[in-house]
Amino acid sequence: MKSYTAYITMNTKKRYEIINITQMVEEELKKSQIKEGICLVNAMHITASVFINDDESGLHKDFLNWLEKLAPYSKTGYNHNLTGEDNGDAHLKRTIMGREVVIAVTNGKLDFGPWEQIFYGEFDGQRPKRILIKIIGE
Ligand code: ZN
Repeated sequence: MKSYTAYITMNTKKRYEIINITQMVEEELKKSQIKEGICLVNAMHITASVFINDDESGLHKDFLNWLEKLAPYSKTGYNHNLTGEDNGDAHLKRTIMGREVVIAVTNGKLDFGPWEQIFYGEFDGQRPKRILIKIIGE
């Protein structure tokens, strides 16, 4: 069995952003030369997510609006921010959207369902943050 590890660094211009990272993951899969196996992709920060959904800009706005209703940005509204941070909302948004995805690798390709794409969800951006890609198989 082969194993391949890669790290991607993201540094978003905005505090909140959803970015399609499918092509980046596909490039790493190509480098890995693994044809059959499993590909794990996870955000390495507790205020960012990796998730799979549709690449549709209206839906991305819907996600961000929905998250803002569930966990609105607030400097004083979270116990976490008593530590001096202001990202209590970002930790909750990350937990809602999830930490990682696992995609089957079949015939050297990410084996997606219809319209599935991989996204990085940033909820406290404007600084470098890493994504881990781990591919195992043969
Ligand atoms: Zn924090």
